[in-house]
Amino acid sequence: MSKHVTHWIGGKAWDGAAERRGDIYNPATGKVSGTVDFASATVVGDAVAAAAKAFPGWRSFSLAKRTSVLFAFRELIIAHRAELAGLISSEHGKVTSDAAGEVARGLEVVEFACGIAHLLKGGFSENVSTGVDAYSIRQPLGVVAGITPFNFPAMVPMWMFPVAIACGNSFVLKPSEKDPSASLLLARLLAEAGLPDGVFNIVQGDKEAVDALLTHPEVRAVSFVGSTPIARYVYETGTASGKRVQALGGAKNHMVVLPDADMDLAADAAVSAGFGSAGERCMAVSVLVAVGSAGDDLVAKIADRVAGLRVGPGGDERSEMGPLVTGAHRDKVASYLDTGVKEGATLAVDGRMHPVIGGDAGGFWLGPSVLDHVTPEMSCYREEIFGPVLSVVRVPRYDDALQLVTENPYGNGTAIFTNDGGAARRFVSEAEVGMIGVNVPIPVPVGYYSFGGWKASLFGDTHIYGTEGIHFYTRGKAVTSRWLDPSHGGVSLGFPVNK
Ligand code: NAD
Repeated sequence: MSKHVTHWIGGKAWDGAAERRGDIYNPATGKVSGTVDFASATVVGDAVAAAAKAFPGWRSFSLAKRTSVLFAFRELIIAHRAELAGLISSEHGKVTSDAAGEVARGLEVVEFACGIAHLLKGGFSENVSTGVDAYSIRQPLGVVAGITPFNFPAMVPMWMFPVAIACGNSFVLKPSEKDPSASLLLARLLAEAGLPDGVFNIVQGDKEAVDALLTHPEVRAVSFVGSTPIARYVYETGTASGKRVQALGGAKNHMVVLPDADMDLAADAAVSAGFGSAGERCMAVSVLVAVGSAGDDLVAKIADRVAGLRVGPGGDERSEMGPLVTGAHRDKVASYLDTGVKEGATLAVDGRMHPVIGGDAGGFWLGPSVLDHVTPEMSCYREEIFGPVLSVVRVPRYDDALQLVTENPYGNGTAIFTNDGGAARRFVSEAEVGMIGVNVPIPVPVGYYSFGGWKASLFGDTHIYGTEGIHFYTRGKAVTSRWLDPSHGGVSLGFPVNK
């Protein structure tokens, strides 16, 4: 039976008739599994109005009451994690174990937000001037919005709304139209956890809904995660409307392997980080930089491991890699293989030949591929492919590897594999990238650090979740206070000086 996914406004599913709708696909079959309503500017206005109505009540909830909702939400996610993972897999295509991993990493941020009472503590200084005290507090902004990509339909929204609502804001989420169902389940769980109606809302849709959020005067801040061109657009449009914006964009993550590295560890890491989630991760390794003599051995070990990967439907627990999200995306990713060869690369592993086990012929399949002897001017190096294609660049020295990382316009994640502590330390210090792994291929920070890249991978000043997330969703206020005592000094027109 075909499903129908809609908005969530004021604590319940929307019951209007949508003017526009989009298809939802099952990537493992290539067939349409349902439709999703697309919000008009009027529907977005209704969601923002519901959030604005809920805000004054929610911000005045005690910290104890707010955190009790988050603790209950945590328990409900744990109870429903298999259902969430199944939903994600059926619309995104990733294997269920990987989808469960995304739920677990989102849960980390919910757990971080459960500690909001501690995290929102301000400072207090007694007697900054005679008889005068000063203190600082952080207050919520009001209605804030989140716009999220297809590749993590549960985790990326959970990078945003747990922190935002824990801080006392109300929230409007615009999920990806490609896999909208997980967000709706999260909304139901929040309601079951006791979140008052209107504090969390969802508008499904596309550019029309995004533009309505970016220009709505009641929306105070926007968090965005997606591709770089749209991140730039969201940042420019949102800030031009006077909003605070953090817009996380695309990536081209380099994994540098020095000749002294453990080559089996490096090959395992490159395969896991290059082909997990079919390469549709913003922290996926897409460029392997083999330094000195590392190249031949590494490519041979990777090819060996890739040959044994089981590609098949995400719902089959034996599958290690699922299909890509859409047919158009699969074709675009596959086109880099021909272009790469035309531009001079060697196709060491051709994923188009990889067997698909248990898959429907109409599914959006593309097996793991490796392009070797890639050089920086080739399109497979310059562009974000966002699929299961690993490009291997061979360079003579560490400095050449560092130069590649430095000159790349993106700066999301990077990793170095070596047994030389001094080289690793130098790389951590010198690489112009926001998240770095040392013998760790996907260095996604835990919930109590903050996630974010540099350069074209982030527009705005604050990273997402962790302490920076709290800062993004709150405004600081400094208070200077004196309670009258008999020694107050009368009128003074001079600038206040602390005595
Ligand atoms: P996308 O940029 O196409 O879409 C992201 C969101 O923007 C979606 O909600 C979409 O509906 C909306 N959108 C799309 N086109 C728009 C337009 N013209 N105007 C306004 N809104 C628009 O990204 P995607 O394909 O869903 O996700 C993959 C991209 O996201 C990759 O580039 C990946 O690197 C990036 N990503 C980055 C991070 C990070 O943390 N930096 C994390 C995950 C994904």
